[in-house]
Amino acid sequence: MKANAYGHGIENVFEGMRAADGFALLEPSEAERIRNLGWRGPILLLEGVFDARDLELCSRLNLWHAVHCDQQIDWLAAHKTQQPHRVFLKMNSGMNRLGFTPERYRSAWARLNALPQVDEISFMTHFSDADSAKGIGPQLAVFEETTRDLPGERSICNSAAMLRYPDMPAQARGDWVRGGILLYGGAPDYPEKTADDWGLQPAMTLSAKVIGVQNLQPGDTVGYGSRFTAEQPMRIGVVACGYADGYPRHCGTGTPVLVNGQRSRLVGRVSMDMITVDLTGIAGAGFGSEVTMWGRASNGAVLPIDEVAQAAGTVGYELMCAVAPRVPMVVDSR
Ligand SMILES: *Cc1c(COP(=O)(O)O)cnc(C)c1O
Repeated sequence: MKANAYGHGIENVFEGMRAADGFALLEPSEAERIRNLGWRGPILLLEGVFDARDLELCSRLNLWHAVHCDQQIDWLAAHKTQQPHRVFLKMNSGMNRLGFTPERYRSAWARLNALPQVDEISFMTHFSDADSAKGIGPQLAVFEETTRDLPGERSICNSAAMLRYPDMPAQARGDWVRGGILLYGGAPDYPEKTADDWGLQPAMTLSAKVIGVQNLQPGDTVGYGSRFTAEQPMRIGVVACGYADGYPRHCGTGTPVLVNGQRSRLVGRVSMDMITVDLTGIAGAGFGSEVTMWGRASNGAVLPIDEVAQAAGTVGYELMCAVAPRVPMVVDSR
């Protein structure tokens, strides 16, 4: 649920997610929003607390938190609480982002285990390459080796590991999985696999309307920098969505869009508040037509966010998270 539920809005997705065993996210303020929705189940802070004061919120809201460094253990040791905490001890098994190295992991565990502030210790690590050929083997091996005889629950898999290693033994998969992007219908390993290959449906649709139409003659250009030149007579639709809405400015001519649910393409540069799309040959397309930048059109056709992300040189995750606050969000409970 981190990053405001990958840009969808925690409050918007909550009903759809409430069958989950728990929620994981980053900021204590987001945890508070989930508690305010009435959720009494587990909430895990994936990066743990950012300062000693966050521990008070953990006590008050009963939040589980990752422990990835010595400072966080120091804060816990100094924390006054009636309610001992459940913590997830994070191992750096090779990603070299957060966590204790395998060499230091067991001494961190021993320190935590001796604290009256700590109730239960679980074990977690995060894969750097679950989405690609390099895979999870070496990280999984070091995690299993280091935690083998330690008592507690385990959490290791992200979406890519869940999807790509279906035959992983249950004991290796762990007690908790941390699926993110798959919940929202993005493929973690695009373009090797598409959302459709994995049977994932898009949760988010970004759509707008054609608010202007231009008829071009050969040689006419479109938009800032005249980046597109018509080679034959064309109709261009001007769409009320630009980079200030979160549509990536790096998308160039040819990036797919759906016009009235039919595939077409972006032409010319993305502006702050508008894009321009090719209407030529799309029956009925004109002023007021629905344009789908990603997600599902009214006729059911789908434009995967991953295709648009690739055209922008990024990943679907970033596009989801970057939809701007000015974009009105409509929740469709179908
Ligand atoms: C974001 C995140 C996940 C989920 O990753 P996806 O690729 O979206 O499934 C899992 N674990 C941690 C620690 C994360 O930060």
